[in-house]
Amino acid sequence: MAQVALEQVRKVYPSGHVAIPGASFTVADGERLVLVGPSGCGKSTLLRMIAGLEEISAGTLRIGERVVNEVAPADRDIAMVFQSYALYPHMTVAENMAFALRLRKRPQAEVDARVREAARILELEDLLARKPGQLSGGQRQRVALGRALVRQPEVFLLDEPLSNLDAKLRAGMRAEIARIHARTGTTMIYVTHDQVEAMTLGQRIVVLKDGVVQQVDAPMAMYRNPANLFVATFLGSPAMNTLRGGVQAGEGIRLADGGLLHLPGVALPVDAGEVVVGVRPEHLALADGDAALLQAEVETVEPVGNEVFLNLRVGGEAVVARIPPEQVPEPGTTVGLSLRPGEVLFFDPASGARLPAGPRYTP
Ligand code: ADP
Repeated sequence: MAQVALEQVRKVYPSGHVAIPGASFTVADGERLVLVGPSGCGKSTLLRMIAGLEEISAGTLRIGERVVNEVAPADRDIAMVFQSYALYPHMTVAENMAFALRLRKRPQAEVDARVREAARILELEDLLARKPGQLSGGQRQRVALGRALVRQPEVFLLDEPLSNLDAKLRAGMRAEIARIHARTGTTMIYVTHDQVEAMTLGQRIVVLKDGVVQQVDAPMAMYRNPANLFVATFLGSPAMNTLRGGVQAGEGIRLADGGLLHLPGVALPVDAGEVVVGVRPEHLALADGDAALLQAEVETVEPVGNEVFLNLRVGGEAVVARIPPEQVPEPGTTVGLSLRPGEVLFFDPASGARLPAGPRYTP
């Protein structure tokens, strides 16, 4: 097993496009780390540089103690699983899994033992004699994982391995990947654009935007304590509500339409002037009388079973609240809303940086 350390790793494509200006983070030995960000942010570029499939323009990449910038992919002791895994259709499951080891001329007894072990971990034992055409999509993806597993690498690299599967299978395979990771203890770097997948699968998450690392932290810590507006609105569905306004010392936030958002008990960012106020949909609640800190117009109501999403309008801006299904107001009515003071976040409208206010902020 090995840790993977990136130090100012940079990628400039031959076209001149700077895909990664300089990324630094360390994946601990045995850790399961997820790289997440919107399409085109540089996730695959980073993973392919770690795999050795893409040249590193500058900076240092270490796997274990070794600097591997110039080391060929086959000598990096990594195994990669892609979104589009091509199994050999004329080979059985066992032959597909054994293929890489055969190429390396490993002794037959060792090949058999490793395929058996991988099949046991992946629960593919009953399918070893089948051809890929006789498998379901999920089973085929397990074989693709099996091919990586038999190589017993220092590091697993997975590039959106589940995006071809339907939602239900994806949830099942996520749990399976976590289980494989727990059983093998192998360092794993997993790339996805899906923030739910990142939250559920990552022991830690690296959020990327435009090739730049925004934040590295455990999922819930990042959800509660985002470093900037991008991370705050990227994690969570429905997304965090954002309202622009001016700080009114001792009172609250003067919203764009002139209304005042009273924030009793909230440490306001002093000297900030204009701010973006961030409140997650689950931290809003229906309220009457003095408890109501703002008034909102109900536009639409979306029941999702265990809860209801209320699409609201506050001073001209769209706001979403998640409420229990027992207390659903009618569209077209006006409701009072309270919010949890400790959960209100503030951001700089120009840079998106988190402003030092609120009890939980640690710069
Ligand atoms: P992601 O995996 O997050 O979707 P990629 O790593 O594939 O993003 O791409 C990052 C950026 O680099 C994108 O703007 C993409 O267009 C660009 N890019 C990717 N491959 C090349 C290439 N071979 N030449 C030039 N630009 C590229």
